[in-house]
Amino acid sequence: MSYLVLARKWRPRRFAELVGQEHVVRALTNALETGRVHHAFLFTGTRGVGKTTIARIFAKSLNCERGTSADPCGECETCKAIDAGRYIDLLEIDAASNTGVDNVRELIENAQYMPSRGRYKVYLIDEVHMLSKAAFNALLKTLEEPPEHVKFLFATTDPEKLLVTVLSRCLQFNLKRLDEAQIRGQIAKILAAENIEADEDAVAQLAKAADGSLRDGLSLLDQAIAYTGGRLDGEAVAAMLGTVDRSRVQALLAALADGDGARLLDEAAQLAEFSPDWASILDAFAQALHRIQVKQLVPGVDVGSDAIDVETLATRLRPELVQLWYQMALNGRRDLGYAPSPRSGFEMTLLRMLAFRPDAPGAQATMPQPQPATAHTASQSSQARADAAARARAAMAEAAPASPQAPPPAPVSAPIAAPVSAPAEMPIAPKPRVADVAPAGHAYASAASTMLVTDTEHWLELVARCGLRGPAKLLAENAAFLAHGDGVLKLSLAPEQEHLKSPSLVLQLCDAIGRQLGGDVQVRFEIGQPRGETANVRNARERDARQSDAESGFAADPAIQRLVQAHGAQIVPDSIRPLDRS
Ligand SMILES: [Zn+2]
Repeated sequence: MSYLVLARKWRPRRFAELVGQEHVVRALTNALETGRVHHAFLFTGTRGVGKTTIARIFAKSLNCERGTSADPCGECETCKAIDAGRYIDLLEIDAASNTGVDNVRELIENAQYMPSRGRYKVYLIDEVHMLSKAAFNALLKTLEEPPEHVKFLFATTDPEKLLVTVLSRCLQFNLKRLDEAQIRGQIAKILAAENIEADEDAVAQLAKAADGSLRDGLSLLDQAIAYTGGRLDGEAVAAMLGTVDRSRVQALLAALADGDGARLLDEAAQLAEFSPDWASILDAFAQALHRIQVKQLVPGVDVGSDAIDVETLATRLRPELVQLWYQMALNGRRDLGYAPSPRSGFEMTLLRMLAFRPDAPGAQATMPQPQPATAHTASQSSQARADAAARARAAMAEAAPASPQAPPPAPVSAPIAAPVSAPAEMPIAPKPRVADVAPAGHAYASAASTMLVTDTEHWLELVARCGLRGPAKLLAENAAFLAHGDGVLKLSLAPEQEHLKSPSLVLQLCDAIGRQLGGDVQVRFEIGQPRGETANVRNARERDARQSDAESGFAADPAIQRLVQAHGAQIVPDSIRPLDRS
């Protein structure tokens, strides 16, 4: 038996066999039965949902030799020719692949001629918005005064691109993507009719991979039959699809629910043997958790069935834990690229989930129970997310897998500048104003540095090599040295630069200087005209010196002097740059 033709073999030949699109079928059937068939239909929607099939059944209905009806005979020469895709009065045009071809225009212009064999010419123009301009104009012209013997079926995935003049002349239908249950049902029906064994998981995976397109689903089914040699099981289909075997995900979830870390890592190791795409596994994980949550919170909804034991997991796991794990799966997937290796990133995500099981390691999993203080509902997912993030941070800080029932909202990872409150004014000396910014508990809480800044030269040297950047560098370069003693470095800052003295910049300065001196440094600023030289002033002075050296050197050059004296050349001010300047 030939397997590679299921989509064709099982293409519906009657409206009654069509899967989905009931609204379209009803409208067309009514029109055919009352004899009032509109001359142009527009089908919008994605690919593989039945446009060609509908067009062919429609063409048969119109042209069947036993008379126009919604249920063509399927046996006459006309019906057979249409089913075989070789009927001269059914013109199938794919505008996406024929945009530049001139004969599309001709084909459309030929609409005015009577059909060769049947009663009606039926045009099926796919991706009609992509017709060439010439063809489109021909179409518009025909649509303005459509001949009685012509029916147009247009299809597009992008109706926005169609002119209103076309839209207004068509009956428009939106073809729906098929849902997984519909595709699953059709695949199961075909497998039964073809006498092919398959387990439920395999069928579910194919239906999911079809992504709303029955045609894609059936060609995947063809492949799967060829791949497995005729007996479809979940593992083989997963291997073929390059997707994750759900039974593996089930095993991971069960190990997590049991709090069995050893089994969890063992399952991960087994997965690793297949060099899987770890991101897809986390996807499958999140999908499974989604179904479990739906089962928990909206029990009436069909969540499908495959190798994931949704029922059991839904009763074993607490709803808010499912939320948390879901978030961890998403975050883990996002962060895979940052992990030392994808596998370690994957394992770490699983271990994080293990760390947040509410029960201590070794304890058996419990039935759902209310959790005080942090009871979430699905609608509080953003809160759950925030909690999840906070708990994740707490977990990483703790490094211990045993996590308490409900960790307090994390006090960790507060911004570095937090300890620095608003700078307290220190009324040591009324004039000049003194602003004290002495970060008490920052990183150098060890001991005051023993090394002192001795003078302006030393200070400028420190500024040059302390490695500050951006605004903190500006602050350092605009500060002049005053004194250093008792762990306090006094600097002066001009009033116009006072804005640089923000707590976070001062903290960066303290850290950088502290690193240079090997100890804790507090910095106190006096606001007033700097008495010593600042790095900024020093740099400007050196720049000016280099500039005037360059200018005088240039002017003293004998060749330049000759040009000036003999030929009246003039040196343009500011046009000379020192050579060493980048
Ligand atoms: Zn017929």
